[in-house]
Amino acid sequence: MNLVLFGPPGSGKGTQAKILQERRGMPQLSTGDMLRAAIAAGTELGKKCKAIIDSGELVPDEIVVGIIAERYDRPDCANGAVFDGFPRTIPQAEALDAMLKGRGRKVDLVIELKVDDAVLIGRVEQRIKESGGIARADDTPETLKNRLAVYYKNTAPLIAYYKKQGKLVTVDGMAPIEEVTKAIASVLDRVGRKGCLEVG
Ligand code: AMP
Repeated sequence: MNLVLFGPPGSGKGTQAKILQERRGMPQLSTGDMLRAAIAAGTELGKKCKAIIDSGELVPDEIVVGIIAERYDRPDCANGAVFDGFPRTIPQAEALDAMLKGRGRKVDLVIELKVDDAVLIGRVEQRIKESGGIARADDTPETLKNRLAVYYKNTAPLIAYYKKQGKLVTVDGMAPIEEVTKAIASVLDRVGRKGCLEVG
């Protein structure tokens, strides 16, 4: 199963991807985590991306497509993966389709976590408070505003892209974490039983 977890910053993608990894053994492929690891390790890639990430903009498509392809080819993804924070643009989605096709696979399902802007802003403010203001350089109210604008401009068009492919399911991302987990589990179980998403 190749699952794309989709939603704006602060929608809970990372939290739910981690739960899927722990409970179902589906590897979490988070481009944000990979890029932060590259920055922490001081690699060339990290140096190239740091200012972009800190400003809330998107790093170039070819960079994230490259790191995803490399990561996906590790043996733990033999049965698929959870894509968390990728794709974020139409060209990335097209590259993902092509990459999977080249390996005889496809995106099986896209779950959109729907969360109102006011709730997203509240969550990031909470994350900043809890971290004492040191956790993520891109977790500031100003950067969040930009990340949301970038989301609506570049990433939200993927909703129509995946809807057209009949792969999109929307889940209420404002429910408590365990409720969201249950809703995702029920979609996954349904798809697992039927082998695909029921249309209509
Ligand atoms: P995240 O942890 O998913 O919120 O990602 C943090 C930051 O990393 C984003 O604001 C972008 O600057 C960068 N990033 C992560 N994933 C991508 C992606 N798929 N495409 C472009 N930039 C990304």
